[in-house]
Amino acid sequence: MSFPARAVVDLSAIASNVRSLRAHAPTAQVLAVVKADAYGHGLVPAARAAVAGGATWLGTAQLGEAIALRTAGVTEPRVLTWLYAPGAPLARAIELDVDLAVSSASALTEVVAAARLVGRTARVHLKVDTGLGRNGLTPVDLADLLPAALRVQAEEAVALVGIWSHLAFADEPEHATVRAQHEVFADAVRLAESAGARLEVRHLANSAATLTSPQVHYDLVRPGLAVYGLSPLPQLGGPEDFGLVPAMTLEAELATVKRVPAGHGVSYAHQYVTPVDTVLGVVPLGYADGIPRHASGRPDRMGAPMRVGDRTLGIAGRVCMDQVVLDLGPDASEQAGDRVELFGTGLEGGPTAQDWALAADTISYEIVSRLSTSVPREYV
Ligand code: PLP
Repeated sequence: MSFPARAVVDLSAIASNVRSLRAHAPTAQVLAVVKADAYGHGLVPAARAAVAGGATWLGTAQLGEAIALRTAGVTEPRVLTWLYAPGAPLARAIELDVDLAVSSASALTEVVAAARLVGRTARVHLKVDTGLGRNGLTPVDLADLLPAALRVQAEEAVALVGIWSHLAFADEPEHATVRAQHEVFADAVRLAESAGARLEVRHLANSAATLTSPQVHYDLVRPGLAVYGLSPLPQLGGPEDFGLVPAMTLEAELATVKRVPAGHGVSYAHQYVTPVDTVLGVVPLGYADGIPRHASGRPDRMGAPMRVGDRTLGIAGRVCMDQVVLDLGPDASEQAGDRVELFGTGLEGGPTAQDWALAADTISYEIVSRLSTSVPREYV
């Protein structure tokens, strides 16, 4: 492998995380969210691992990823996809037995046209905006759309198999909106069922709600982040507190190691200056690879942490496009080619994606999902 870094993905951790999530939601099926290349873990391998752990559904935002799952031979679980613009290849998705979310009247019209084109019934989940203020039918729009939806169901162009929504504050289980959105959702379900929809699945819970809000589990939970072993509620607990194990370890080889005198400016704008005669190591990953520039060290503090041997060191100075620098210290014995771990399971004291999120003023979702495809994924 010529690229001097890799994201090692432990597929058995993904399977075991899904098993844990099933135990948290014993009355529901699990839809593993594998959007955004499975949060950077690799769409197809992560999806297969989630299925091995007991996920009976997979979910993607982009239609292309749902199609990619099917064409890669992931045929067994149901697949739901929810974000597409006018003109998307809906017919292909229907042919491949992909369930489609419908968030507007015009989307329903397109789905019906595509279903008629291929002569198959499209399986549809009506998305309700219960308060997130993102995509989805408002409750008023839902009431308006239902008669038309039931008409095309009677003509077998569509089957209304799901009603679903997404929470705005799932990571704050006590937040008033969780209850308020749940009430709006329950009304929407009642409305659809009393109008004659025969729903297979009602679903509202993401990772945080799966772990903390059993009242919204319904028939199906839709965890994403927790599938990859990261805590969606870092203020309440780390992965281990929820029975999760981080699946991704990002590691690299030191590209160069050199001794410099005290007072040596490091990286652009010299935001770090060596306090003593010391050894600098260059890690060959930068913002082009998805390392956040916000993870840079500043004059007043070191940047995001990395594990070097048994030490944890912060990035010295600015993150560059394809490299960052570590101050390995005056007594460093490291050589070029030695391994450094940027983040991983945290089980042996090394930094985690959550530590990186804190250092870069973001969330662990972004740390893993933004990792560029330039960084090879290795599966163990
Ligand atoms: N459901 C929908 C519609 C989503 O967009 C997402 C991701 O943001 C999820 C479920 C999974 O969320 P989480 O990763 O917080 O579990």
